[in-house]
Amino acid sequence: MPKQRILTGDRPTGKLHLGHYVGTLANRVRLQDEYDCFFLVADLHMLTTRVERELLSETAQNIRDVVLDNLSVGIDPNKSTYLLQSLVPQIPEMALIFSMLITVPRVQRVPTLKEVMQNLDIEQPSLGLLSYPVLQAADILCVRANLVPVGKDQASHVEVTRELAHRFNTLYGEVLPEPDALIGEVPTLVGIDGQAKMSKSLNNGIFLSDDAKTVEQKVRGMFTDPNRIRADVPGRVEGNPVFIYHDAFNPNTDEVNDLKERYRTGKVGDVEVKKKLAAAINAFLDPIRERRAEYERNPKLVQEILVAGSDKARAEADETLRRMKDAMGLTFFK
Ligand code: ATP
Ligand code: MG
Repeated sequence: MPKQRILTGDRPTGKLHLGHYVGTLANRVRLQDEYDCFFLVADLHMLTTRVERELLSETAQNIRDVVLDNLSVGIDPNKSTYLLQSLVPQIPEMALIFSMLITVPRVQRVPTLKEVMQNLDIEQPSLGLLSYPVLQAADILCVRANLVPVGKDQASHVEVTRELAHRFNTLYGEVLPEPDALIGEVPTLVGIDGQAKMSKSLNNGIFLSDDAKTVEQKVRGMFTDPNRIRADVPGRVEGNPVFIYHDAFNPNTDEVNDLKERYRTGKVGDVEVKKKLAAAINAFLDPIRERRAEYERNPKLVQEILVAGSDKARAEADETLRRMKDAMGLTFFK
């Protein structure tokens, strides 16, 4: 039996952070041996929320950062395929076909659309932003992926992919898999400011590439229980970002339980809780930093990985598109 396939990806809009790690990167690392994996840098998806020339000039650097972030958490380029979306033109062609198989009200109902519009102050979505999940369906289905490890905000997009695959198969015969979403252990990690989602666009993240001092500084300024004005006031652990991070990144559960107990009873100061959190996050990031430094020594590496991976993905996408067109009876002049 050939291995099942994974496709997932990131927009080159900035560096990856702890939210990406718990939402999707951890699953990528965990499943890279079991599955045939494709990791996509979604530069066309980037255009859904940024088109200004000035911002686009950051793209090359962002592409490099996103790939280095993936490499640094341990996604082995010899096992998995990294691809750049714009180097696989079959993706937008498939997306165009898919756009005929879904209604406008259906994509308007996708909850992520409302969130993005709210976060970025967008009054009316462009046609491209509206069809974000349709393009994502083409990403996923171009390599006929079965599983999509994503953060919770993306689950509604994978649902659109399933519907599109189902609709296509119903109309033309079984060609496409109906892939499942795989949500991370922490479905949505809160930001250091207490906002619901740590996000590149909200500037409330601890980045995988942050150095130890920066982590300490960010943790020191983290949002905690706002009602706790002194160390001897009993505090709230549930929903408190500092403890959410302790649970996610501090493997010393005895230490975490002891801190929680003392926090609840007003017997520990924020300073100690945060100091221990910064130490835990830095210990978590240390091996990631080392791997990054190793990969950064070869300045051509990212380009080589993306060019070779996109070649491979293009061949897969070509095959998928051929099967689709055959099934639709739309293969001409061959
Ligand atoms: P942007 O704000 O530019 O959209 P983003 O931080 O949402 O950036 P994406 O590149 O859109 O990052 O998402 C990459 C992956 O990381 C997706 O699977 C997404 O669900 C996941 N992800 C992003 N932020 C979080 C978070 N705070 N918690 C869990 N998963 C997350
Ligand atoms: Mg996003």
